[in-house]
Amino acid sequence: MDQNSKDKSIKGLSIQRLHRFMMAVAVLLAILLLYATYSVMTGYDILQEATDRYIEMERSTQDLMAASDYLTESVQSFVVTADPDYVDDYFEEAKVARRRDNALETMEKTLAGTETYRYLEEALWYSNNLMDIEYYAMRLTIDANGMEVSNFPEELQNIVVRPRHAWLSDESKRSIAIDLVFNDVYQRYKNNIRRDVDLCAGALVTDAQNSQRQSADHFREVIRRLTICIFLLLLSVLFMVILTARLIIDPLNNGIRHIRKKELFPVAGSLEMRYLAQTYNDLYESSRKEQETLSYEASHDALTGLGNRAMFERVRNDCDPATTAMILIDIDYFKEVNDTYGHEAGDQLLKRAAKVFRAGFRSEDCVCRIGGDEFAVLMMHSGTHLRALVQRKIELAQAQLKDEENGVPGVTISVGVAFPDRDDPTEDIYQDADTALYKVKNAGRNGLAFYE
Ligand code: GH3
Ligand code: MG
Repeated sequence: MDQNSKDKSIKGLSIQRLHRFMMAVAVLLAILLLYATYSVMTGYDILQEATDRYIEMERSTQDLMAASDYLTESVQSFVVTADPDYVDDYFEEAKVARRRDNALETMEKTLAGTETYRYLEEALWYSNNLMDIEYYAMRLTIDANGMEVSNFPEELQNIVVRPRHAWLSDESKRSIAIDLVFNDVYQRYKNNIRRDVDLCAGALVTDAQNSQRQSADHFREVIRRLTICIFLLLLSVLFMVILTARLIIDPLNNGIRHIRKKELFPVAGSLEMRYLAQTYNDLYESSRKEQETLSYEASHDALTGLGNRAMFERVRNDCDPATTAMILIDIDYFKEVNDTYGHEAGDQLLKRAAKVFRAGFRSEDCVCRIGGDEFAVLMMHSGTHLRALVQRKIELAQAQLKDEENGVPGVTISVGVAFPDRDDPTEDIYQDADTALYKVKNAGRNGLAFYE
C-alpha cells in the first residue's frame, strides 16, 4: 500500500484537530469569564456610587431641615429676647452657610427634574416664604425695642412696617412679632417643609432601593453566567480528560501490552494513534516476513526446497539419538549427468530426486540435501525392526528414479543406513551410515546397505 492510500484508509478522530477545537473553547470560556468578572466589578462600582449618592442626598435633605429649624430657632429667640446676636446667627445661616440652598444645588446635580428634587424644591420654597414672615417679625422686634435698624442687615432695613402696625405700642409690636413666628400659619409652613423633606427622604430611599434591586438583579444574572461558564469549563476539561484517555492513553497502554506479547499493535484511538499503530504493524509485518525468509533461506536448500546441512545438523542435535535412524543417499555418477545433459538437467534431476525422497518418508522424518548430490534422512522413532520398511522405501525411490521423465534422465542411487540400535556401533551414526554407503559405492553402486 502506498503512503497516500494508507493515509486515506486510516479513519478516526484527529486529536490535533480536537486539541485546536478545545483550545478555542477554553479561550472563549476564559473571555466570557473575564467579561463576567469585569461586569461584577463595574456592577459593584455602580452600586457603590448609588449608595454614596444616597448618603449625600440624605444628608442634603437633613441639612435643609436643620437649617430651616436653625432659622426658626434664631428668629424665635430674637423676637423673645431682642438679643441682636440671634439676628447675626440667622443671617449667618441664611447668607453665609446657606445650607438650604446648598442642599438643593447638590441635589440638582444628579436629580434635577425628578420628583425627589421637586419635593426639596418645594420645601425650600416654603422655607423662603417663611423668611418674609421672619424678616417682618424681626423688623417689628427692632422697632418695639427701640433699636437702631441701620445696625442690622440690609434685608431688615428694607422691610417697610405696615401702617396698621406702625402706630402700635412697643408691647403690641412685640406680641405681634412673637405671634408671627409662633402662630398656626407659621407652624403650617414648618409642617409643610417637614412633610416635603420627609417625602424627599422617602423618595430617596425608594430610589436607593430600586438601584439596589437593579444591582442585585444584575449580580444574580452575572453570577448565573459565571456559574454556567465555570460549569462549561469543568465540562470541557472533563471531556478533554476522557477523550485523551480514550484516544491516546488507553490505546497506548493496550498497544504496549500487545508489543510485549509480540503481537500486532491494535489499530484504535485517535487518527494519529491509528496511524502510528498501522505504521508499526506494517513495519512489524515486513520485518517478520523478512526474518522468516532469512531463517527459511538459512535452513533450506534453494534448489530443492529441502532442509540444508544447517537444518540437518540442528535436527540431528535436537532429536532423540536412541530412536533416530540415519539414511544417506548419493546419486550415482551425477557428475556425468551434468557433463552429458548439462547443468540445468542436473538441477532438474536433483529436484526430481528431492521430491521422490520427500514423498517417500513421513512428514516427521527430516529429509535434507546435505551436499551436491547427497541427501540425508533422519528417520524418527525408528530401529532395526523397520529394516524391511526402509528397504521397501528405498527400492520404491530407486524404481521412481531409474527412468527418464520429461527430459530428466534416469539415475540410480546408492544408500547407506544406520539404525540407532545397530550392532557394533561407532560413536557417530553418520559415520556408520557413510560406511554403509561407501560399501554400496564400492560394490558398484545402485544399492542399499545397512550398517551392521
Ligand atoms: P559418484 O557415483 O561416485 O557419486 O559419482 P558422482 O559423479 O556423483 O560424483 P560426485 O558425487 O563427487 O559428484 C557430484 C557432482 O555434483 C559434482 C558437482 O559438479 C555436481 N553438483 C554439485 N552441486 C550441484 C548442483 O547444485 N547442480 C548440479 N547440476 N550439479 C551439482
Ligand atoms: Mg554422486
